Amino acid sequence: MLTLTRPPEARPHALVIGSGFGGLAAAVRLGARGYRVTVLERLDAPGGRGYVYRQDGFTFDAGPTVITAPFLFEELWQLCGRRLADDVELRPVAPYYRVRFDDGTVFDYSGDADAMRAEVAKIAPDDVAGYERFLDASKAIYAVGFEQLGDQPFDRFADMAAVLPQLLKLEGYRSVYGLACKHVRHEKLRVLLTFQSLLVGGNPFQTTSVYCLIAHLERRFGVHFAMGGTGSLVKGLVSLIEGQGGRLRCSATVEEILVDDGAACGVRLAGGERIPAALVVSNADAAWTYSRLLPGVKRKRWTERKLARARYSMSLFVWYFGTRRQYPDVAHHSILLGPRYRGLLDDIFVKQHLADDFSLYLHRPTATDASLAPPGCDAFYVLAPVPHLDSGVDWQRRAEPYRQAIEQRLSSTVLPGLAQQIVSSRLLTPQDFQDRLLSVKGAAFSFEPLLTQSAWFRPHNRSEEVANLYLVGAGTHPGAGLPGVLTSAKVLDRVVPHGETLRGPLPASPGTRHVRRTHRPA
Ligand SMILES: Cc1cc2nc3c(=O)[nH]c(=O)nc-3n(C[C@H](O)[C@H](O)[C@H](O)COP(=O)(O)OP(=O)(O)OC[C@H]3O[C@@H](n4cnc5c(N)ncnc54)[C@H](O)[C@@H]3O)c2cc1C
Repeated sequence: MLTLTRPPEARPHALVIGSGFGGLAAAVRLGARGYRVTVLERLDAPGGRGYVYRQDGFTFDAGPTVITAPFLFEELWQLCGRRLADDVELRPVAPYYRVRFDDGTVFDYSGDADAMRAEVAKIAPDDVAGYERFLDASKAIYAVGFEQLGDQPFDRFADMAAVLPQLLKLEGYRSVYGLACKHVRHEKLRVLLTFQSLLVGGNPFQTTSVYCLIAHLERRFGVHFAMGGTGSLVKGLVSLIEGQGGRLRCSATVEEILVDDGAACGVRLAGGERIPAALVVSNADAAWTYSRLLPGVKRKRWTERKLARARYSMSLFVWYFGTRRQYPDVAHHSILLGPRYRGLLDDIFVKQHLADDFSLYLHRPTATDASLAPPGCDAFYVLAPVPHLDSGVDWQRRAEPYRQAIEQRLSSTVLPGLAQQIVSSRLLTPQDFQDRLLSVKGAAFSFEPLLTQSAWFRPHNRSEEVANLYLVGAGTHPGAGLPGVLTSAKVLDRVVPHGETLRGPLPASPGTRHVRRTHRPA
């Protein structure tokens, strides 16, 4: 690592659009590489999907709650000469998930190998050996998919071609569900080994089996919760950026990335202000970045046609609520499966149809951290995967009946008498993903993680369209989820020149032609 010799004000200026985890991690990495960084966030507070709602004495993390690769956070703290533990306590969660099947069977999914074998034997004694083989496959996939390829830029097709033999050997052409079927026979176990891909927006029946690496990732590093809520990680990252001399500006919506002679040179904010920069990193939705933020650029790859034909992940309906009593028997993370698995996923991903039944993820952070609710109360959120906005569902009309149906389901399963206990409530619908977070089609996880939309096929971290423009976040390589977006920022270390070495303009990306002059920053 080069020593930083220039004072912060003399360093080249880098702009990061969006303060999701990908954007904040990118800012820390650029700060450590000799840039003076400004993060521009349209909301009134940072975090993106990791925004924090505080109301009625409750703290609700809006999105991510399952922290699976703590070392990726640790790296960011280390880049600033600090330790993660100085700012944030990550506490292991056990079990990782309590899964409840529709018939009332309960499975505690944990990182304890013996306990897991016993749980598997309870529902599918003949599948214990197959389950072990699935874990071995997951480990092998992790070694390639995460360790070797996760932080590679994949901006030449040759990079993709070079790894195809490995991916074929690991059976990456199978779906997540297909790989589970190869190893285990019991349907319940197949569900247990495959629902995790939904956590990154993938339909287990269509998503590449590369995502089976999640099982090994969880087993090896555990599942953690950030005390104080995931928002404490957001707060910690912002303090790292400010400690480096960088800056976060909230309520600042970028309307255009300014391009001069084919190279990004700043942004224009809503309201007209222009901010010059040596480079721009977009953590805004990748499809939105290309379709809306580069109006003067003739795009070669990410054309409107290609963006319209791309497949987008499902959306989510999220209900945050606080109860006046506590439900101590409810685990920190619960998966409440409905009567259908494949049929429901077909409705969501293929038919774009809002079904009457649902499977739910229920979060009870107060199981680990009581400070997130007033004394004697519980904080919750429950989410249901739902189709994105191509479904045509009018969420203004459907949200409340849908919430009530979920409330009834919770009341009849794990939260008896729920309706009478609610003291705080708010909703997030697919429409909010579009209107608030500017996500195309209200997709909760950007592009669907299909093999044909992964690595080289995904928007590159170094833009193919405009020089000096970089992309991080869920819609870029390697993909959604906190490990994915933190790794997308890590790719920048490979493709962005060190700020100390920067004298003239940045070199163009391979394949990027300087398109045409559109604007000069003021
Ligand atoms: C409900 C939910 C639960 C989840 N749970 C988990 C979990 O438990 N574990 C896990 O690992 N992952 C989870 N995920 C996935 C994970 O949260 C996301 O993949 C990840 O946080 C996305 O980060 P990002 O870097 O892509 O940025 P985002 O969070 O998408 O943030 C992008 C930011 O850019 C801002 N922005 C957009 N356009 C502009 C503009 N033009 N100008 C200025 N700012 C702009 C937005 O306001 C936003 O703040 C969950 C997601 C959701 C929605």
